[in-house]
Amino acid sequence: MKKPAILWLNVFVFSITFLIAAIAVPYRAYTHGFDTTEIIAAIICFIYCGMSITAGYHRLWSHRTYQAHWSLRIIYALGGAFALQNSALHWSSDHRIHHKHVDKNHVDPYSAKMGFWHSHIGWMLRDHQPERYQDYSNVRDLQKDAIVMWQHKHYLLLTILMNFGVPILFGLWHGDMLNSLLLLGVLRLVLSHHTTFFINSLAHVWGKQTYTDKNTARDNGFLAFFTFGEGYHNYHHIFENDYRNGIRWWQFDPTKWFIKACQHLKLTSKLRVTPEDKIEKARLSMVLLRNQKKIAAHPNAELLLEKLQHEYDELIHKVNEFYALRKALIASKRDKLIADVENSDIMAQYQEIKRRLAEQQRSWQHMLENLA
Ligand SMILES: [Zn+2]
Ligand SMILES: [Zn+2]
Repeated sequence: MKKPAILWLNVFVFSITFLIAAIAVPYRAYTHGFDTTEIIAAIICFIYCGMSITAGYHRLWSHRTYQAHWSLRIIYALGGAFALQNSALHWSSDHRIHHKHVDKNHVDPYSAKMGFWHSHIGWMLRDHQPERYQDYSNVRDLQKDAIVMWQHKHYLLLTILMNFGVPILFGLWHGDMLNSLLLLGVLRLVLSHHTTFFINSLAHVWGKQTYTDKNTARDNGFLAFFTFGEGYHNYHHIFENDYRNGIRWWQFDPTKWFIKACQHLKLTSKLRVTPEDKIEKARLSMVLLRNQKKIAAHPNAELLLEKLQHEYDELIHKVNEFYALRKALIASKRDKLIADVENSDIMAQYQEIKRRLAEQQRSWQHMLENLA
C-alpha cells in the first residue's frame, strides 16, 4: 500500500521545536542560565496550555461533560491555540472518532494498534485521512458555539499571537527576550505537546484495565500526574460522559478539581457523573475476569469457576439492591415524601441491605484471597 503524503509543515514544526528544546535550551541553561521568574512563568504557561486542552478541548467540547460560561470558553480557546493542537472543532471531531472507533486501524485517527509512534505523533506527520479532514458532521453541536467557531476561523492568527505574543510580552517585561522565547515559547510548547500525546500513546499501552478490556485504554496514576489527570484513561474510555477521569478522592485529577472549583464560582454547571453502581459493576466484572483467567489452569478449575461465579452473582445482586434502595432513600429525602426519613422503614431496610452487602463483599474478598 502506498504511504500517505508527508505533511511537511507538521514535520517541520515538530522537529524544529523539539531540536531547540533538546539542544538550545540546555545549552542556554548551561552558558547563561534561567532565573526563577522565567521558570515559574514557563510552568504557568505549561499549565494553562495543558488545562485548556484537558478541561476545554477534551472534557467540555469533545465530551460535553459540563457547561461553561463564555468567559471560561474564551480562556480555553486562547489556551488551545497556545498549545498548538489544532482548533477545538477539529480536535473534538478527531477525538469523537477516536472514542467511537477506538483501536480500529485507519478509522480511529490515533489507533494504538498501529503502534506507539503512530498513536503518539506519527498520525500527524502524514495525511492519513485526507477524505475526512474537512468533515465536521460529528461536531454539529460545537458549530453552534460562537467561541468555538471564532477560534476555528482565526486559528492561525491566534496561534501566532499566543505563541509569539506571550513570550515576547514576558521578555519585554522581564528583560531577557531570548530566554523567554526559549522557555515560554519553545520548551513549554514541546512539553505541552508530548504530555498530551502520551494520552494517545502511553495511556493505551501502560497501566491497568480497571473497568474494561474492550479497548486498549489504561489507567495510569503516574501518567495522570503529568497530564492533569488524564492518565485514568481506562475509566475515561468506558464512561466518557463523566467530567472526572480519576474518580477517587486520592486520584490526581486537577482538571476535575478545576471544573468543580469553577462550579462554586458559577463558571461551570451541569457537571455529569456516572452512577456509582455502574462504576462498581464495571470494576467487579474485571475482577471476575482476571480471576477466571487465573484459575483456568488449576486442576480444580471447573469447581472453582462455579464457586467464583456464584459469589459474583450474589455480590452483583446485593449491589443492585443496595443502590436501588439508596436511590429511593435520596429521593424521599429530597422530595420530603416521608416526614421522618431517619426513623422510617426505608432507612431500616437500607441499613440492613448495607450490612448484607458488606458481608457479601467480605465473603467475595475471602474467596479471592483463597484463589491467590
Ligand atoms: Zn476522551
Ligand atoms: Zn484514548
